[in-house]
Amino acid sequence: MMFSKMRNFMRHNPRKKFIMKIVIVGGGFAGVNLAIDLGGNKDFDITLVDKNNYNFFPPLIYQVATAYLEPTSISVPFRKLFLRKENVRFRLGEVESVNMAENKVILNNGELEYDRLIFATGAETNYFGMENVRKNAIPMKTLNDAIEMRNKLLQRMEKAAICKNSRERRKYLNIVVAGGGPTGVEVSGMFAEMKNGILRKEYPELSTSVSNIYLVDGGDALLSPMSEKSQKDTLEALTKLGVIVKLNSRVTDYTDDTVHLHTGETIHSKNLIWAAGVSAKVFEGIPAESYGRGRRMLVDAYNKMANTTNIYALGDTCLQTTDAAFPDGHPQVAQVAIQQGKNLAKNFKNELKNKPLVPFKYNDKGSMAIIGKNKAVVDLPKPKLHFKGFIAWLMWLFIHLMSLIGYRNRIVTAYNWMIAYFSKDHSLRMIIRPDKRSKT
Ligand SMILES: Cc1cc2nc3c(=O)[nH]c(=O)nc-3n(C[C@H](O)[C@H](O)[C@H](O)COP(=O)(O)OP(=O)(O)OC[C@H]3O[C@@H](n4cnc5c(N)ncnc54)[C@H](O)[C@@H]3O)c2cc1C
Repeated sequence: MMFSKMRNFMRHNPRKKFIMKIVIVGGGFAGVNLAIDLGGNKDFDITLVDKNNYNFFPPLIYQVATAYLEPTSISVPFRKLFLRKENVRFRLGEVESVNMAENKVILNNGELEYDRLIFATGAETNYFGMENVRKNAIPMKTLNDAIEMRNKLLQRMEKAAICKNSRERRKYLNIVVAGGGPTGVEVSGMFAEMKNGILRKEYPELSTSVSNIYLVDGGDALLSPMSEKSQKDTLEALTKLGVIVKLNSRVTDYTDDTVHLHTGETIHSKNLIWAAGVSAKVFEGIPAESYGRGRRMLVDAYNKMANTTNIYALGDTCLQTTDAAFPDGHPQVAQVAIQQGKNLAKNFKNELKNKPLVPFKYNDKGSMAIIGKNKAVVDLPKPKLHFKGFIAWLMWLFIHLMSLIGYRNRIVTAYNWMIAYFSKDHSLRMIIRPDKRSKT
């Protein structure tokens, strides 16, 4: 109450400058780009809230999961990131609900007042209501998921190494990846290369074991949003690497180490990697009518949420249908989130200067996926070009390296990739178990 009185006083007193109090929930691509662009501008007082104390780079988490990179190579702590931005503060906390009437956002550890509230909370893994899959599959969404996957797979390889029963051993070694998008393609390509290299070299106990890597998808093509050429090249390259690709095959259940497909087929495996879908989150206090398809928050051309006056949503968590080229909404990719964050920063600045607001228009810079060593596919929209093989692989490496935040991360990642390339190895295969006794 006291704060809102002060704010009103400052708004109506021409000698006192209005400072816009902004709370950004979520420090992924969208939230961080908004905070960076408003950082250092004293017209804004910014609090960035995130349930983790670091920003990370999702496109490379599969390399953490397969022990190619350390988690620190693809992440940066928020407090370090905003060290030199005096008007940006970080708050570790998880948003639970919003009190729209009082302009307050309620966290699991307190509450914050805002003039503008921005949801940039991304999406979460969607198991499409399959409880057994949720309980037993390994998700691929967060850095925690990647570390869990690395530990589980390494432990299962050790179990396979001492398992006397060949059927049981096969279950430890078979891997089923669900979801033929970039993540599913990239992780199964990486597993195939590990199987052909490291497994044979470092696990002599398993040299005669038979095991398979399966990539299953409900659709009739891999990398569905990419060009037909990319889809065909990817299928060919993965098959050559030894991955068994099953298209038109939807996972329906996962019980007793058995993956059930809707075709009636079953695959025996203790390792179901879930990269098959995401949905956004629902927050208490946000009107039900403000959510659209996939629980994404409906926004206007300026990313303002429907049925609210001062709440915005960006990136994966929002659904914007005002962009003429994307009438069904934008794809849930990093560039949309980055560009929306930057556009909203520009609009907040324009608002304070009484300048017209700029509607969001997505500039599609193309899409790419890596399949394995010297193998990738790239589609560029303007001009329409398709690349594959070594050149596409170099493009993928360069773009991903330059997208990492901070020189340290770029140098460490480039070094790790170089060592892995020339030695055909990477030596990060440690099983690190969290200490169960410690509580914080
Ligand atoms: C494995 C994987 C690979 C991908 N590969 C690519 C790729 O190659 N190219 C590409 O363009 N896109 C890729 N994507 C998609 C891309 O990562 C997303 O589109 C992008 O991250 C969306 O950005 P965002 O800012 O909306 O959300 P996110 O980057 O997901 O950030 C959301 C943030 O919100 C925080 N948060 C969530 N809920 C709360 C809460 N209640 N309270 C506080 N904080 C919260 C999270 O901790 C997180 O930091 C990939 C995604 C995944 C999972």
